[in-house]
Amino acid sequence: NLRVGVLAIQGSVREHIEKLNLIDGVEAVLAKDKNTLLSLDALIIPGGESTAIGKMIVDFGLKEAILKLNERKIPIWGTCAGMILMAKYIVNDDKVHLGIMDISVKRNAYGSQLDSFKTKLMIPAVSNNEIEAVFIRAPYIENVGNGVRILAKHQGKIVAAQQDNLLATSFHPELTDDLSFYKYFLRLNS
Ligand code: GLN
Repeated sequence: NLRVGVLAIQGSVREHIEKLNLIDGVEAVLAKDKNTLLSLDALIIPGGESTAIGKMIVDFGLKEAILKLNERKIPIWGTCAGMILMAKYIVNDDKVHLGIMDISVKRNAYGSQLDSFKTKLMIPAVSNNEIEAVFIRAPYIENVGNGVRILAKHQGKIVAAQQDNLLATSFHPELTDDLSFYKYFLRLNS
């Protein structure tokens, strides 16, 4: 079994665990301490509030363990706030949290009108069918470095990208019935 952890500090933790439980060969693990983190084959950093999660990974001594997973090239997937936590640059915040992915992101990038919305995206690398995408006070990616593959855009803005073992999505696949992003993510392991 593949041990796939969800960083369990704050945010949509349970929703990711429920999706992982639907996938054969996966053991879903709540990850909130260093030893559990270091035992994982893959890690999901969920949506929530990036400032709060970013502070707590430092306070709880988890930042080093996550950086270590990245050094080992363990797949790490950040959804929404998780994308913000992974980014090397945040255009509208002075903070950098994990700083592991060569992307610059804009927080709360859709303003108040489009605070939350649902759309369908064609993402050929991930699925042959349209993928439902739920955005909740979402960030988008303004710029990517050379090693980053852009997977999806919505209205010209980058909303999904991959760099080696790292995957980032602006939207929340844990809130839909489509498992194709999970399967894509788990393939980064081989
Ligand atoms: N707006 C949140 C932040 O900046 C992210 C929202 C989400 O994860 N749904 O952290």
